[in-house]
Amino acid sequence: MKGKVYLIGAGPGDPELLTLKAARILREADIIMYDALVGQEIKKLFGPSAELIDVGKRANHHTYPQEEINRMLVERSKKHSIVARLKGGDPYVFGRGGEEAEELAKHGIDFEVIPGITSAIAVPAMAGIPVTHRDWASSLTIITGHEDPTKGGSALNFKSLAALDGTLVILMGVSRLGDNVKMLLDCGKSPETPVAIIEKGARPGQRVTVGTLDTIVRLASERSIEAPAIFVMGDVVRMRDILGGK
Ligand code: SAH
Repeated sequence: MKGKVYLIGAGPGDPELLTLKAARILREADIIMYDALVGQEIKKLFGPSAELIDVGKRANHHTYPQEEINRMLVERSKKHSIVARLKGGDPYVFGRGGEEAEELAKHGIDFEVIPGITSAIAVPAMAGIPVTHRDWASSLTIITGHEDPTKGGSALNFKSLAALDGTLVILMGVSRLGDNVKMLLDCGKSPETPVAIIEKGARPGQRVTVGTLDTIVRLASERSIEAPAIFVMGDVVRMRDILGGK
C-alpha cells in the first residue's frame, strides 16, 4: 500500500510563520525531504525519528537534480506512510513544486499541498513594504529573474513589465540583476523608479538596500548582495520610510 506525500510550504524562514497543518505533518512524517531555503530554526519542528534528506537546491548549485528528487518522492511514497516534501515559501511559487506534484499525479500517488507564506509577499512586508497599496499600487507581478532576458525565447515580456504601473517582485534575481534592470530601463521604465533588495528576509542577517532603478546595480555591487534576495520595484518601496521594518 502506498503512503501519502505532502508538498509543504515552509514560509520565509521564521518557524512561527509556518501553518499549523505544516507543523503537524512535520512532527508526524516518516521522512522529510527539505530544500536549502528552509530556515534552520524550522528543523527543530521535525519529529525526532524522521529520516531527513537535505536535497539542498540552490541557484547554480543543485545537489540533487530535479529528476532525482521527483524519482525519490515516488519511490519513498511506496515505502513510507507520510512523506513530507518541505519547500521554502509556498510550494507552488517557483521552486518547481508544480513539477513535483505533476510527477506524483502521473504515478497515481496520493498527495496534498499545504500552502506556505511566499517570500515574494512576506519578505517585503517584513521590511516595511506592502506589495499593494490603495494609493500606490493596484497590481502585483512576480517573476523569476533567472531567465536570460537578452536571449531569444525568454517567456518574459519586458515591454509589458516596464509598462506596468504596479509592483514588480523578482525572485532568484541576484545573478542577473544587471541584465534585468537594463531591460526594464531599455523598455522605458523610469530610472527614478524606487527599488529595494531584501537579502535573507525574515532571518538573522536580513539586510535591506534601497535605491532606484538607476542606482540599484551599483549599490548591489558595492554591498556585495547575495542570494537569497528579493527585488521589489515600485512606488510602494517608499512606504518603508513610513512603516519602518527591520
Ligand atoms: N517557493 C519560494 C520561492 C522559491 S524561488 C517562495 O514562495 O518564497 C527562490 C527565491 O525566493 C530566492 O532566489 C529568493 O529570491 C526568494 N527567497 C526565498 N526565501 C527568501 C528569503 N528568506 N529572503 C529573501 N529571498 C528569499
